[in-house]
Amino acid sequence: DHGNTFGHTNGREANHAGPSSAPLNPAAQAIQEQRKQLPIYLGADALIEEIKKNDVTVLLGETGSGKTTQVPQYLLESGLAGNRMIAVTQPRKVAATSLAQRVAAEQNGPLGKVVGYAVRFDEKSSPHTRIKYMTDGMIMRELMSDPSLSRYSVVIVDEAHERTLRTDLLIANLKKLQKERNGSSNAKGKGNSNNSKPLKIVIMSATLDAEKFSKFFDNAKILYVKGRQHPVKIFHSAEGQPDYVDSAMRTFFQIHTDQPPGDVLIFLPGQEDIESLEKSIDMFAKRLPQDSPEVLVCPMFAAQAPGKNAKVFLSPPPNTRKCILATNIAETSITIPGVKYVIDTGKCKEKQYLARMAGGFDTLLTRDITKSSAMQRAGRAGREGSGLCFRLYTEDAFNSMALSGEPEILRCSLTSSILQLRCLGQDLMELDLMDAPDTDTICSALKTLFIIGAFDKQSQLTPAGRHMASFPLEPQHACAIVASKEHGCSSEVIDVISVLSASSKLFLDVTEKRDAVSEARRKFRHPSGDHLTILNVVRAYQAIASSEKKKSRKDWCRKHFLNERTLIEAREIREQLRQTCTRVGVDYTTSCGENEGPVIACLGHGLVANSAFLQPDGSYKQTMGSSFVKIHPGSTLSDKKVPAIVYDELVYTNQIYARGVSSIPKSFFAKHHALSQRAA
Ligand code: ADP
Ligand code: MG
Repeated sequence: DHGNTFGHTNGREANHAGPSSAPLNPAAQAIQEQRKQLPIYLGADALIEEIKKNDVTVLLGETGSGKTTQVPQYLLESGLAGNRMIAVTQPRKVAATSLAQRVAAEQNGPLGKVVGYAVRFDEKSSPHTRIKYMTDGMIMRELMSDPSLSRYSVVIVDEAHERTLRTDLLIANLKKLQKERNGSSNAKGKGNSNNSKPLKIVIMSATLDAEKFSKFFDNAKILYVKGRQHPVKIFHSAEGQPDYVDSAMRTFFQIHTDQPPGDVLIFLPGQEDIESLEKSIDMFAKRLPQDSPEVLVCPMFAAQAPGKNAKVFLSPPPNTRKCILATNIAETSITIPGVKYVIDTGKCKEKQYLARMAGGFDTLLTRDITKSSAMQRAGRAGREGSGLCFRLYTEDAFNSMALSGEPEILRCSLTSSILQLRCLGQDLMELDLMDAPDTDTICSALKTLFIIGAFDKQSQLTPAGRHMASFPLEPQHACAIVASKEHGCSSEVIDVISVLSASSKLFLDVTEKRDAVSEARRKFRHPSGDHLTILNVVRAYQAIASSEKKKSRKDWCRKHFLNERTLIEAREIREQLRQTCTRVGVDYTTSCGENEGPVIACLGHGLVANSAFLQPDGSYKQTMGSSFVKIHPGSTLSDKKVPAIVYDELVYTNQIYARGVSSIPKSFFAKHHALSQRAA
């Protein structure tokens, strides 16, 4: 038995579109009409019945059928949520914010009222909020202040097929706390709304992997929404395309000149490729003959300003072809209307934990996608009518792709999760997980947590560790802030960490103007390295920001090749970090003034596991692990030799580079016995 299928083919008239209150203006009416056109609409009643009947439901349906935007509204409108909230989790920040925006409009209200969102460093919700789109990381964070998620009556785990680390941890926790919540409500009897607060779980996914989720939840019911997929004709390239950005551009213009109207969606691995393709498409579009249709390029990626991301949903002006450049966010999380052509580079960026290199580290690698991704990508061309998909790889390459990806828990660092779970009184090794992580990865995380002082020798959580976990940061960065309490330089440390936590880089690289860039950068350069250089920029920007107008701030940033968006975002992050400081008793106003030694000491405390010593031959050898690292060419220390360094992260291209590097006195390591012995 594969459960029931709901959808437009077997549905009956349902009544689930539209808030029932005041009359709607034409735009709002149009939105309600659109809702009724979605494949999921006619099955809504039956769907709700099933969710009512079952504690856990697994809902499977093609991308664009209306799962993410409609199901929470149906549940709310049916009264199933009681007077509590419905959480809808997303692996990606952009998906959470953009979906909340759409659903708020569908509920005919402002964002943050009935429909809100919560992502790291950004939340729009109020006491009226009933539907909350949030990242899987944010709801895991909420567990720390509300271990039974008592504010929620339904948790919808969306995009479950992506199997991110946080989604896996969430699913494990939901299983556990549902037993507690629903179990106790049965024992106490029904009818008392204060005592019985049962929890509903809905797992949603776009791919055909429902069985595993169903099994995990004691054979939970699987429901299917029938989509409306039109045929998509797939073309493979005859040979591999190593320069996929260039190849994507040529393919785009071929479509643009040869094919009938319809928008084009191009899948690229990341921001850099998107920006470079945007530039070249814009440039070539100018050279098109007068009578050809216009091209409107719409980039879509996580670090982009939310307003710009919203642009992809607007219909283009007449006689214009929209060209959307997206990361795998457009694979299943976000459906963009109007797409008839897909260009698939076959690449994505994925977090990868290199366990056997340099003591183990996370890095983002561009890699081949899986078969399942390739099929999803092609499917995006067939949502509104038949479409075409151009794969910039050969059919053989497709055939040799892995079927689907490995869950993230098997391929990323666990430091942050282990700390967080320990605050919940849980042990990762004992948690009932869908897939258990590698013991090597766990050991390396425990070692790091011990070195930064979050765990003691017996691997027990320390008070400092609990404080670290309160910050929405990697433990290494949180440790620096916690350490700043003692050193009286919290203001400076927070300034630096805020910039490091922003979603894009501070320093812009303009390859054509290399000399001008390094000239401008020299002004901020601090002899100790990248962290205090960042601090110099923040200070200079603050001085400008307090006296000058918006326009001149912008000019100042442009003149110095600085990304103003990063600085603005950092300012918001700083606000959030200050609030956390207040909660854990760190006075964020303390400042060390011009004597910046303590700032480096604090960063050193946090990054002590990320340190290396200069060797006689000029290379740097890690203090933990035995690998050699190079200072990244973009670092202010790249052409200097200092006795010891700490760094934010390692990146792996053709060799291992340390990025975000500061010089640190070797004496600093004296108190870390294990490390200083290695240094000798
Ligand atoms: P699923 O979760 O099944 O993939 P969704 O609920 O995300 O489906 O999408 C349903 C519809 O909502 C799609 O047609 C999509 O284009 C539309 N939609 C989603 N977000 C927005 C938005 N921000 N603006 C306009 N339309 C949107
Ligand atoms: Mg969805």
